[in-house]
Amino acid sequence: MSFEVTATRKRPQSFDSLVGQEFVVSTLRNSIESGRIAHAYLFSGPRGVGKTSSARLLAKALNCVEGPTANPCGVCDNCRGIAAGNSLDVIEIDGASNTGVNDVRAIKEEVLFPPSSSRYKIYIIDEVHMLSQSAFNALLKTIEEPPEYVVFIFATTELQKVPATVRSRCQQFNFQLIPIETIKGLLENAVSEMGIQADEDALFWIAKEATGSMRDAYTLFDQVVSFSGGHITMEGIREKLGLAGTDILNSIMQDILAGNREGAMEKLRTLIAGGVSVEHIIKDFSDYFRNLLLIREGVKNRNVLGVQISSFPQEILSVYTEEQLEAALDMFLGLYRNVRYSINPRFELELALSRLFRLKYTYSNVAVVQQLAKLKNDLINGNITPVEGPEVPIPGPAPETAPEPEPEPEPEPEPEPEPVAPEEKQWTEADLSAVIPQGVGNVSVTENGLVLEFGSRLYYSSALQNRESIVAKIHSVTGNGLNVVLSFSEKLEEERLRRAKEEERRRSEEEKKNLQKEDLFEDLMYAFDGKEVR
Ligand SMILES: [Zn+2]
Repeated sequence: MSFEVTATRKRPQSFDSLVGQEFVVSTLRNSIESGRIAHAYLFSGPRGVGKTSSARLLAKALNCVEGPTANPCGVCDNCRGIAAGNSLDVIEIDGASNTGVNDVRAIKEEVLFPPSSSRYKIYIIDEVHMLSQSAFNALLKTIEEPPEYVVFIFATTELQKVPATVRSRCQQFNFQLIPIETIKGLLENAVSEMGIQADEDALFWIAKEATGSMRDAYTLFDQVVSFSGGHITMEGIREKLGLAGTDILNSIMQDILAGNREGAMEKLRTLIAGGVSVEHIIKDFSDYFRNLLLIREGVKNRNVLGVQISSFPQEILSVYTEEQLEAALDMFLGLYRNVRYSINPRFELELALSRLFRLKYTYSNVAVVQQLAKLKNDLINGNITPVEGPEVPIPGPAPETAPEPEPEPEPEPEPEPEPVAPEEKQWTEADLSAVIPQGVGNVSVTENGLVLEFGSRLYYSSALQNRESIVAKIHSVTGNGLNVVLSFSEKLEEERLRRAKEEERRRSEEEKKNLQKEDLFEDLMYAFDGKEVR
């Protein structure tokens, strides 16, 4: 027995076996049974959901010797001829390769000859949207006034590309994506017909991967059957097709949450060494974060998610906000789009993984602006002390009208264009405060970029000398798209000096008071010959 692909073997031979398109089937049945045969039908919908199968079924229904009938016999010459694709009166044309006006002109001429042995002469034009405009125009006249015996069945995956003039002359049917459970049910049938075994989760995975297309499901199924040796398992699929399963992604994410870079990178290395392609890992990460996001938004349906919620550890389900999950999903989707242009896809993936370590601290642009405003306030009020060195001067308050940069008393080398292609990162207040150099009294974001105003001439001139490393540090947080402006503000310096003086005065007064207190204490002790009791 020769091997026949499952999609062909299982091609529906009756309307009853056409699954997932109940609405289309019942409408077609009704119109055939009531004898309302249209001269043009338009089947639209995604690929692999049964449009061509339906077109052939309709052809059978019309041309069966017992027809027109919604239940063609399947055994008469006409039925068998159509099933085998060699009926003289059912002409299948691929719109993709017969796009020209001449092809359509040939149809127009041929249409004039009645069917040779059947009731109807049926033209099935697949991918009809590929026809040229002039071809459509030529076709239009034939559809408008076709001979009694002619029926056109158009199929298209891109309905919007079919001219409205053509559409309006057709009976239209919109085919839907086939639900996962339906696909899985059909795969289960195929499994039992073939006398093999299959694990439930493996069939579910195939059904999910097919994304609503029965043809894709059968094609993938055949591939899996070919290496499964009579028993289809998820392990086998993962191993042979090179997939990163949810469990391995979970374990990478757990490393990331624990701050274990080495562990995460090692697992990535093992995956790649095991033959899983970088593209596939990126795709699986997209899937992973999509699921986390949907779960976060309250989606529980396995058919939507494609996995069970229980396959994620609780710590991962609860650690990220929706906004952070969106950012992660966005990052991997973007990576998936761009990775084919990369000189090194693996580096891109590693970079993405590295960014995931900061995901917990990622905020949207709105949140960043809010955080920045808070940071500015904190800096003004002295609630943030620079991380290095306790000897840093306390930043003074910014002028009321900030953030306009002050007139520069010293030559300002800013701004110069960045030589590197601008790149933006998600960054946070905590990240930024760690890289703000010493002596900065005010931070603001203006149209010139991030403006750091120094309240100390000393720190300002040393910052100018170390400009490159300061900018590099800031860019390590913000991405290199952000222009960094260093400026000196006399106002800030005055304010800082004033504060410092005030502080000094306060301290010396306090000291004086303390001294006086101490003196008084000593005097009292002496006077009453007492002992200090604490
Ligand atoms: Zn028949």
